[in-house]
Amino acid sequence: MQELIKQSFTLEWHHPFDALGTVYFTPVQPTPLANVHWVAKNLSLAQDLGWPEGEWDSELMLQVLAGNAVWPGSQPFATVYSGHQFGVWAGQLGDGRALSLGNIQTASGQQEFQLKGAGQTPYSRMGDGRAVLRSSIREFLCSEAMHGLGIPTTRALGLVGSPDRVLREEIETAAVVTRVAPSFLRFGHIQHFAANGDTVSLKKLVDHLIHQHFDHLIPTPPGALRYTAVLEEITRLTASLMAKWQAVGFCHGVMNTDNMSLLGLTIDYGPFQFLDGFDPAHICNHSDHQGRYAYARQPQIAYWNLFCLGQALLPLIEDQDMALAALETYKTLYPALADQAFAAKLGLPQVQTDDHTLIEQLLKVLAAEKTDFTIFWRRLSHAVALKDLANPAQTFAPVRDMFIDATQWDAWLPGYIQRLKDVDLSQAGIAMLTTNPKFVLRNHLGEQVIQQAKMGDFSGIDQLLQVLSSPFDEHPAFEHFAAFPPDWASSISISCSS
Ligand code: AMP
Ligand code: MG
Repeated sequence: MQELIKQSFTLEWHHPFDALGTVYFTPVQPTPLANVHWVAKNLSLAQDLGWPEGEWDSELMLQVLAGNAVWPGSQPFATVYSGHQFGVWAGQLGDGRALSLGNIQTASGQQEFQLKGAGQTPYSRMGDGRAVLRSSIREFLCSEAMHGLGIPTTRALGLVGSPDRVLREEIETAAVVTRVAPSFLRFGHIQHFAANGDTVSLKKLVDHLIHQHFDHLIPTPPGALRYTAVLEEITRLTASLMAKWQAVGFCHGVMNTDNMSLLGLTIDYGPFQFLDGFDPAHICNHSDHQGRYAYARQPQIAYWNLFCLGQALLPLIEDQDMALAALETYKTLYPALADQAFAAKLGLPQVQTDDHTLIEQLLKVLAAEKTDFTIFWRRLSHAVALKDLANPAQTFAPVRDMFIDATQWDAWLPGYIQRLKDVDLSQAGIAMLTTNPKFVLRNHLGEQVIQQAKMGDFSGIDQLLQVLSSPFDEHPAFEHFAAFPPDWASSISISCSS
């Protein structure tokens, strides 16, 4: 291995966490896996990061992304955090199976690299520190699907598998995903030091966050005002993320405070799901018996989580009213951003007063028969792209065909046609086709490539990666990925176990 390392290209590793001290992290070496092999490589992300071409073919790359070797200069570590899980304070958690390798300066700024599934850490509690192939494929593909949709997310650089056995409900095999993000800091990191009453460490952590990621807030006077600005900024980022999730029909499934990114990224892909039929009450996590994280509740839950963050920041903000005022931003911002996002889906670039009602009524039409969310919006986009409002029966026929009882749709459509008269119709359809994706990572698509991968065939992952990276393109060779889900899709059961 030393020979391999000597041959490697040079990466300059940065460890900004070092300056904080070991109260925030523990150095941990990854635990090797046997007989590792590639499952997937994200060549386009590698290129974006300025990774040298051809490096993928090196044995070293495989061994490093498996956690079997460590690059010179990289000092792996796991961080500590706490959090609320399913609304209940869970106390100390931490990176139980994620190891950070450090940061690298890339074309898109400093990026942190993490191996998920690389073995136990002091924060593993009862866990084995491993991730199974099934859930690692889901995380790998969904990170890139979200990125392709223009939704802030952690990325996935590579996926390595091993025949080493991992015990879940049944025996599965191990895998490691390499995740990349400007930071993996979570609400729970801040909650941890607040809960311990360690205001000195809390302050150091938030100052680190400001200097590394929110340097545009530095002109704000230091102290309470600046910390309030941090809370307001995270509130804004989170509101924006929620509007994007809702508009694309994404359910996260486990919106615990330790799974909420301080940078407003989608993080920790577990039992997530893109809606097939539109059901606001849909629960994608089999373990979520109360439906706490149901699709329609996500924006509210995000606010609840922000409230916890606000409480944790109180020792720095000092004034409860100032913290509440920062959080209050969410109550006007989220609805405005959600209206904007749904208006854009309708081809309306500017939101007008009555648009909220138009959107709300349409969502009721879709909920009545659980109409397929992705196909509905795509068909609507194609209809508008025809630019023929004079013959609505013909223009919108493929959309109307989606309803068994089209009464409600027929009642809604004239209002929409009227509203479209205010916009530049030559642009509306085009805009809709780059707003409403043709492809999302439906559960059954993930399930199919997982089954193939378990048999040693990883080609389906590459195909899905290609299509999901540009989900607004037509990809005629992959029409089947854009089809209605098969009947068995609704019986797929996904829990927190991963
Ligand atoms: P999650 O529900 O995946 O966000 O995980 C909650 C906490 O449990 C986090 O601190 C994880 O790092 C930890 N965890 C989850 N699965 C494992 C595992 N197999 N081994 C060790 N820690 C784990
Ligand atoms: Mg997590």
